[in-house]
Amino acid sequence: MKTVDTFSFKEKRALIRVDYNVPLDESFVIQDDSRITESLSTIKKILNDGGSVVLMSHLGRPKNGPENKFSLKHLVSHLEILTGVKVLFSDDCVSKKAINTSKNLEIGTIHLLENLRFYPEETSGNNDFAEKLSEHGDIYVNDAFGTAHRSHASTAVIARHFTDKCFGYLMTKEISNASMLLKNPERPFTAIVGGAKVSDKILIIQNLLNIADHIIIGGGMAYTFKCAQGGTIGNSLFEEERVETCREILIEAKKKNVQIHLPQDSIIADKFDNNANTKNCQSDQIPDVWMGLDIGGDAISTFSNVLTQSKTILWNGPMGVFEMSTFENGTKSIAKAVALATDNGAFSLIGGGDSSAAVKKFGYTNQVSYVSTGGGALLEYFEGKKLPGIVAIEG
Ligand code: AMP
Repeated sequence: MKTVDTFSFKEKRALIRVDYNVPLDESFVIQDDSRITESLSTIKKILNDGGSVVLMSHLGRPKNGPENKFSLKHLVSHLEILTGVKVLFSDDCVSKKAINTSKNLEIGTIHLLENLRFYPEETSGNNDFAEKLSEHGDIYVNDAFGTAHRSHASTAVIARHFTDKCFGYLMTKEISNASMLLKNPERPFTAIVGGAKVSDKILIIQNLLNIADHIIIGGGMAYTFKCAQGGTIGNSLFEEERVETCREILIEAKKKNVQIHLPQDSIIADKFDNNANTKNCQSDQIPDVWMGLDIGGDAISTFSNVLTQSKTILWNGPMGVFEMSTFENGTKSIAKAVALATDNGAFSLIGGGDSSAAVKKFGYTNQVSYVSTGGGALLEYFEGKKLPGIVAIEG
């Protein structure tokens, strides 16, 4: 794998695609700077080599060109504090002025470009736009795993305009962890798949049938599976057009000797509300009006037992509506079981988005092996797809 260690950046300008899509409050104060801190080792390596750094990123989803609330200028002072280096900012990413600033950049300094998505050419993957962007640097570095599944100008198309291109440290870490799970997991390998919809997770489950020994299925998506087995699920989340696929997955799992674990019991509620009336119920006997919003105590025990015996764990998607305290226990208990298994020597990879948020919320971030920064990217990776951001560099 070509990484920043492959090159010396002495007297070179590195153009780094970072993911600085950080949450800002109404006063534009950064609420969580982990995406910036995760990029620091790559930046430091380049500066220590005697090079200079041009950073490009998106922030939010601007629809109609430049908008103050999506400006990357709000990150400049914090970036200067974190790097201890002067940060120049350009209020555009492809203007002559911005490109000249990069061309005249002093060694040891950083130039941050304005939000790439102020131009629709970024997301449409426009080649002319990518070519203009490429003028900012001598070596292209992709360190934005969170957007690696997008074929955007700055994440994929741009690479064809560089002879020298590589992955940053964050991207390298993400790819090596994910590929280790995909290609060479220590067994037993358990995948936990949860979240709202079966339709979003069908491809990953189908691909995991070729890799995992156990698949634990929780969250709203478990009820379509329960229905496929002939259960009654009341008002729980249900995707009628997916029942047949769920049936096929269950049959395929048997053939491939993969054990699928569905929650035998659930915490059911009479409305989608933190203050709803609740009770424990068998997941295949949920009465009318009631809905399953979390896994129950028996499911927690079964799932935890499977996890205790696992040597590799992948987790994508919560076990219930963990944002509401009444329905957080399942996700919290599974986070604890993953942490315990990790303490006993298992390798655990937590896959972006809601699973990372849950692990963070319940205080287990430092007790799992790796929390990925990529939600959609990691999901697509485990669906078996080639990610454009990776292909663009590896060829
Ligand atoms: P996803 O984006 O597909 O990973 O889904 C995450 C969302 O699924 C979270 O916002 C959870 O609140 C929601 N969720 C998990 N379990 C359930 C459930 N049993 N019923 C409804 N929503 C759920």
